[in-house]
Amino acid sequence: MPTTHPNNLSTPPPLPPGALRVTPLGGLGEIGRNMTVFEQDGKLLVVDCGVLFPEDHQPGIDVILPDFTSLLDRLDQVEAIVLTHGHEDHIGGVPYLLKERPDIPLIGSQLTLAFIEAKLKEHRIRPVTVQVAAGDIHHAGPFGLEFAAVNHSIPDGLAVAIRTAAGLVLNTGDFKMDQFPLDERITDLRAFARFGEEGVDLFLVDSTNAEVPGFTTSERDLAPAIDQVFATAPRRIIVSSFASHVHRIQQILDAAHKHGRKVAFVGRSMVRNMGIARDLGYLSIPQGLVVDFKKLGSMPDQKVTLVCTGSQGEPLAALSRMANGDHQIRVSEGDTVLLASSLIPGNESAIYGIINKLTDLGAKVVHKGNAKVHVSGHASAGELVYCYNIIKPRNVLPIHGESKHLHANAALAISTGVDPERVIVAKDGMTIDLIDGRARISGKVQAGLVYVDGKTVGRATDDTLQERQLMREGGVVTVLALVDPATNTLAEPLEFLSRGFVHDDHTFDGVAVEVDRALKKASAQHIDGNQLEATIGGAVSRYIQRTHRSAPVVIAIVVDA
Ligand SMILES: [Zn+2]
Repeated sequence: MPTTHPNNLSTPPPLPPGALRVTPLGGLGEIGRNMTVFEQDGKLLVVDCGVLFPEDHQPGIDVILPDFTSLLDRLDQVEAIVLTHGHEDHIGGVPYLLKERPDIPLIGSQLTLAFIEAKLKEHRIRPVTVQVAAGDIHHAGPFGLEFAAVNHSIPDGLAVAIRTAAGLVLNTGDFKMDQFPLDERITDLRAFARFGEEGVDLFLVDSTNAEVPGFTTSERDLAPAIDQVFATAPRRIIVSSFASHVHRIQQILDAAHKHGRKVAFVGRSMVRNMGIARDLGYLSIPQGLVVDFKKLGSMPDQKVTLVCTGSQGEPLAALSRMANGDHQIRVSEGDTVLLASSLIPGNESAIYGIINKLTDLGAKVVHKGNAKVHVSGHASAGELVYCYNIIKPRNVLPIHGESKHLHANAALAISTGVDPERVIVAKDGMTIDLIDGRARISGKVQAGLVYVDGKTVGRATDDTLQERQLMREGGVVTVLALVDPATNTLAEPLEFLSRGFVHDDHTFDGVAVEVDRALKKASAQHIDGNQLEATIGGAVSRYIQRTHRSAPVVIAIVVDA
């Protein structure tokens, strides 16, 4: 199985006429920021454009985008952006790409387009949209698109088949094969089989659950555990879920209705998305069941259900603020909190922290660790093997996953008889060319992590994050030095200011000697002001590290005496 290391790759050669180039710009090597670019005869098609959520070692970052650099001087060649479904890791990057060229058509299903349009409204962008449904055929330049229904943890997901001069490509998007989904819209294996008969030259497959053996449990199987919560909760029930998991929330609404409770949606994204889902008929709400949050105060606790976001431990989401006593909803003795969601890898400690705090407040917390209140939205190994056997693809490119997920998915493809030489485990930025029915890695383009920090995009770098990490670990020491420019010697004793750095009265006692020595050495080399600051900062930093066994960020400010 070809697994070329990115260091051994360079810019790909020009693409021959009729060949297809596939460039994943995100989602290969991480769970999130899914984006793949297809190129043929100078025309481009983008499939998905999502965000990645930051981890603990990326403090202060809001979201992480795919790197659009390789597209920026070719934006006029982009025929369309196909959105497979409405999750943030597939649509969250669209506003940032449309800022570069607002009239790129967005192709997607009804609910997917409704979610992205609501998001774009907040960015003051009115997109050009093309609504499609399962079974539809649509042409975008040289790309012939055909859509097939897939079942996932959000309604209205689509796989997309792309007919090109180089062959037929099938991209599953995120999918699973729940045979009894709440909306009875199953993954269209008949369409997959038809594509297989036609001959799938390149199969791009969701790898998220490739390591999980067997089959993903049906969404319907959660009903008893959810019902149990509603049957036994003595006071309020507070449910936290993704703001897009329409079917899970439908199950909550049904249980609340059955047990005579009212429901209020809490949080902007939850209220917005559930409004959209209800208006478009994806969510069925019995008359009078959902009430405004403000009206709940006058109701007895055992009649109340609150549905909010924050199931991933995001610091600003409603549940996290409730756990910290920083929300208008005060969690108290006898409340039941239901976490109807998965734990995204990397978020575990934040979520366990929230569970502990909620427990300390007297709540009973029901989560996937102690009750069957969550199933995954992704196909497990058994389902993936099924797909390979139905489709019999000629070449396979596992997508959506960290390296271990991609490799596990590749192994599944090989186990069904796909030629190992044609199963390609790639990384973000690698280009895969489909020529004469054979897919091969041909080079790489820029595909770094692009950080959104407040209003800035791409300004925070890995160096910024490293500095933040250092400050987080050791604090900051600022040293003010009054230096005589004629002699490059200290004119006054050094002054120290610190934040987050633990010290005592004698911590800086010997540092002046060290700084003097560094200044003497420097003055022989005729250095400028910036170098002087670096010299003093370096001397202080070395001294603190040696005597104090600690490494704060040291900032030196030099003032001429
Ligand atoms: Zn998804």
